[in-house]
Amino acid sequence: MVDYNALNEITQNIKADIKKNINASAYSLWFESMDVLKITDLVIAVSVHTEVMRKNIESKYKNYIIGAVKNLYDLNVQVIIYSTQDGKIQKERIDADERSLIIRDIKEIETPGSFIPAENRELGEFITNNNTFGLDGADINRHTSLEYTFDNFVVGSSNRLAYKACTVVAQYPAIKYNPFFIYGPSGLGKTHLLYSIANEYTQRFKNVRVLYTNGEEFTNSLINSLAEKERHQKQQYLQYFREKYRSCDMLLIDDIQFIEGKDSTQEEFFHTFNALYTAGKQIILTSDRPPRNIKTLEDRLTSRFESGLIVDIQPPDLELRIAILKRKSEDMGIKVPNDVLFFLAENISSNIRQIEGAIKKLNAYSYLNNSGITLELAKSSIADILSGTEPINVTVEKVMSLISQAFSVPQDELKGRKRTKEIAFARNAAIYIIRKITDLSLPKIGKIFGRDHATIYSAINSIEEETKINAPLNNQIEEIAKLAKS
Ligand code: ADP
Ligand code: MG
Repeated sequence: MVDYNALNEITQNIKADIKKNINASAYSLWFESMDVLKITDLVIAVSVHTEVMRKNIESKYKNYIIGAVKNLYDLNVQVIIYSTQDGKIQKERIDADERSLIIRDIKEIETPGSFIPAENRELGEFITNNNTFGLDGADINRHTSLEYTFDNFVVGSSNRLAYKACTVVAQYPAIKYNPFFIYGPSGLGKTHLLYSIANEYTQRFKNVRVLYTNGEEFTNSLINSLAEKERHQKQQYLQYFREKYRSCDMLLIDDIQFIEGKDSTQEEFFHTFNALYTAGKQIILTSDRPPRNIKTLEDRLTSRFESGLIVDIQPPDLELRIAILKRKSEDMGIKVPNDVLFFLAENISSNIRQIEGAIKKLNAYSYLNNSGITLELAKSSIADILSGTEPINVTVEKVMSLISQAFSVPQDELKGRKRTKEIAFARNAAIYIIRKITDLSLPKIGKIFGRDHATIYSAINSIEEETKINAPLNNQIEEIAKLAKS
């Protein structure tokens, strides 16, 4: 974090030194309002209020700053000057380390010949056509965020709607769907889509400012502002916080559910939301659940969220899992045989992050063992990943045991030949649930029950029909399915 106290003191010292060496009117014209944003042993960054001031200091008075730093700290620095003319902070970034920089006007950085401190250079990669793509939060990897694009997002039935809506938002920001809300369980590509929008949007439009943050970071930086004891400072921080979030063209907040139950954060977010919304700016939010299910989210926020478009992402079906596996392994340049692809796709069923992890791990194993990727290798190398989820056969066993309890039918009869009404019904119910909660094909389910796939098909149909007219049965089946999945 920035040490504001230290910066204040440095600012005062430098200004006092300049004051000593320059005539009074020049000082009050050009330096009175100057702030020091950062100082390292290589560079000092300062901000002044107007563009005129900036240009003038740049062309005529820069040496006073260089001189002051030399006098006071015995450092030979380069000077970067930013103007905050329009009162908006265009880009802000706080380095994780002590040598922090708050950049107030990103365009300055691109001015040819201006000095870009090394630790800031990668920032330039984020700027296309004068765009700013602000990232809040230290743990966000800038390179990763650039890698997340629509191009490398694999589309299937479970995420098609979300994908489509995201591409529309990137093309018609604040016109089509505003606010735009994506929800779904962890690891299914919400953050990927969020970044894709930002990347696409900054490529399409010039001079736009994008701010990405997440619910946690938003809350923390607000808390930091509120925690300041000194009144004046506190107001400054708060103002700074507000300007930052209200001065962008597109605000993306990932995992907004984090603000659940945090009253002052919700209050602040509400105002941010309104300010951006009425100014015609795009707001995009993600969450692990729909707005209605975020407990203690104020009604007025819920209804704001619901006034736009809400889409969900579902866990990937087998087809999409295979497609993703294929795509990811190709991207990584590794050859994964089909049987291994199927093994992975069948066994890692709910989370794409895990699918990715499995391929990476497999790749590392095969490299270390100096061997090709085989089914054997796959089985042993992803054992720990599998234990996190659950192999399909465990799920199947659970269904069998739950059904046997619920319908008072011995478990082995479910797979047996008996065709009494009770047993056949319980068997059909088990088949129906397995089909519902796993991606096993009809022939595979058939194998488990020693029946052909046509029998499985009609079993599923008969239960499906029954659940439509029999609510208690429907509830019971839902309940069992839920338990078997957990
Ligand atoms: P979430 O934010 O929903 O928890 P992420 O966006 O972080 O999920 O996705 C987890 C990982 O899975 C990321 O590396 C992402 O690139 C990858 N991923 C998710 N969905 C897809 C997809 N449809 N195509 C390609 N990669 C995906
Ligand atoms: Mg995420």
